[in-house]
Amino acid sequence: MPSRKTIALVAHDNKKEELVAWAKLNRKLLARHSLYSTWTTGQLLKTRLGLKVTLLESGPLGGDQQIGARIAEGQIDFVVFFSDPLQSHPHDADVKALLRIIVVWNIPVACNRASADFIVSSPLMATEYERLAPDTSRHRVRLPLSAALSVAADHAHLASP
Ligand code: PGA
Repeated sequence: MPSRKTIALVAHDNKKEELVAWAKLNRKLLARHSLYSTWTTGQLLKTRLGLKVTLLESGPLGGDQQIGARIAEGQIDFVVFFSDPLQSHPHDADVKALLRIIVVWNIPVACNRASADFIVSSPLMATEYERLAPDTSRHRVRLPLSAALSVAADHAHLASP
C-alpha cells in the first residue's frame, strides 16, 4: 500500500461522537490520506471537521457492503470502524461480513479508539507497506475446472424450459 493511504471510517450511532473526537485529534494526519465513509459518519466528519470525505451509502442501506466490495477490489488500505458492542443493529449481518472480508484481505482495522491510536501512530502510516494478500489461486481452483464447468452446464440445462 502507498504512503498516502485510503482509509474507510465508520461509526455506529452511539460511537459517532467518539469517532469525531478521535478524528479531531488526528485531523492533520487524516487530511493527508484519502478518506471514505458511510453516509452519516462522513457527513459529521465533513461538517464538523472540514475533512474531505468520499461518501458512500449509509451503513444500514449498504454502506458497509460498499466498503467490503472496495476492499476486495484492493481500494481500501485501512479501516477505522468504531462499532457499538452493546446494541444490536438491523445490519449486523453486513457488519459481520465487512469484518470477515477485512480479515480475508489482511486489512488493518481499528474497532475502538485505543486500536486506532496504535495504528495511526505506527511509522507505517507514512511509508509504503507491503501487505501480504491471501493466496487466492488455491481457493479459485478448489474445484477442478472441468467439474466446475459440468456443474455450470447442469445448471444451464435445468434452467432451460
Ligand atoms: P452511517 O452508517 O455512517 O450511515 O451511520 C454506519 C453504520 O451504522 O454502519
